[in-house]
Amino acid sequence: MKTNLSLLGSTGSIGTQTLDVARALGLKVSALAAHSNITLLESQIREWKPKLAVVYETEAAAHLRAAVRDLPVRVLSGMEGLCEAASLPEADVVCNAVVGMVGLQPTLAAANAGKDLALANKETLAAGGALVMETVRKNGVRVFPVDSEHSAIFQCLQGCPERGALRRILLTASGGPFFGKTREELKTVTPQDALRHPNWEMGNKITIDCATMMNKGLEVIEASWLFGLPEDRIDVVVHRESIVHSLVEYVDGAMLAQLGTADMHIPIQYALTWPDRKPSVAPPLDLVRCGTLRFFAPDDETFPCLAACREALRRGGLTPAAINGANEVAVQLFLQGKLSFPAIGEIVRKMAATTIPGGSLEEILDADREARASVRQIAGMK
Ligand code: NDP
Ligand code: MG
Repeated sequence: MKTNLSLLGSTGSIGTQTLDVARALGLKVSALAAHSNITLLESQIREWKPKLAVVYETEAAAHLRAAVRDLPVRVLSGMEGLCEAASLPEADVVCNAVVGMVGLQPTLAAANAGKDLALANKETLAAGGALVMETVRKNGVRVFPVDSEHSAIFQCLQGCPERGALRRILLTASGGPFFGKTREELKTVTPQDALRHPNWEMGNKITIDCATMMNKGLEVIEASWLFGLPEDRIDVVVHRESIVHSLVEYVDGAMLAQLGTADMHIPIQYALTWPDRKPSVAPPLDLVRCGTLRFFAPDDETFPCLAACREALRRGGLTPAAINGANEVAVQLFLQGKLSFPAIGEIVRKMAATTIPGGSLEEILDADREARASVRQIAGMK
């Protein structure tokens, strides 16, 4: 079991739930990092007494430094600060729960410093999967999935004698708030409509990704890297109740699933206690109260992002980085009322249609930057 965390994205949905788990398990936290929410970060610093705190925004970091000058904590900022938090000697695991591509360099820094990772930041694996996994392998560290579907697969694979026994994996998807709607109906949906997820309470970006099915597309790419499977052995099934968190199918036809309440405390905790299990703060699952569990095929016509991610994964190179960067900006613009909901899918679909060779860190960052710029141009911004 892990005992000392460096937590990046501590003020977010996954970050605060990771601290719930750390509190319940009696773990130490040596580093906390956020983007700019220094009010919450300060109260976290006062509770956890980390050695290092990082605020990405320089000005906010200066304010925090002044606010916590009574405490023996260093306050750093920027990417350099995040990478320092990711390689802190005291930590035996880096929990990467920042949202978006900004998580890539800290993930690499953690692996290069010999740290295991509890990884929620799926954009990292989507955009730079080959580089991340190569860095992880080279340094002999491990990546423990926090994403609920990948944690479910990881749990179902415990005790699997050999990888050859695995036929395929099945990721479940809630289908989001718009499952069953037509393309026509989606033209007029608002950010408020899209932020109403039926089963999970999450940060805004991933909630929009769930509504477009981009989240499931990113998860297919994530699963491919985590479990070493090609795209055609990763299926997706829409499961409205979010009780079955994912499944594996073995060559004999046996399927194993992991079930539980829709509560991220469970996968977060397993990433930290593996191979052990500990009591969780999550409420237990009452199957009788769940009643019916329903499964449907995804609607790739109405929601093009999932198929686009599959295409990007098949193309490889920098195409996944480009679609991820494009999606991040498209989601921001949609939330600001500057793009329609269907435009997100259109943008991602177009971006997935080109193979862009490359794979070094610089190339990934460039592809990300270019994709973002081209989306801003499409939206008529500079
Ligand atoms: P939130 O938006 O709730 O939180 C994001 C966190 O990242 C905040 O702490 C934020 O700080 C921090 N952050 C953002 N940008 C930076 C930056 N440049 N430098 C440092 N910190 C930064 O997101 P979620 O917790 O929902 O999601 C986090 C990740 O986990 C995403 O990759 C998501 O896809 C994944 N995930 C989330 C799930 C969930 O249930 N929420 C489920 C599965 C995966 P600040 O508060 O200061 O802005
Ligand atoms: Mg998920």
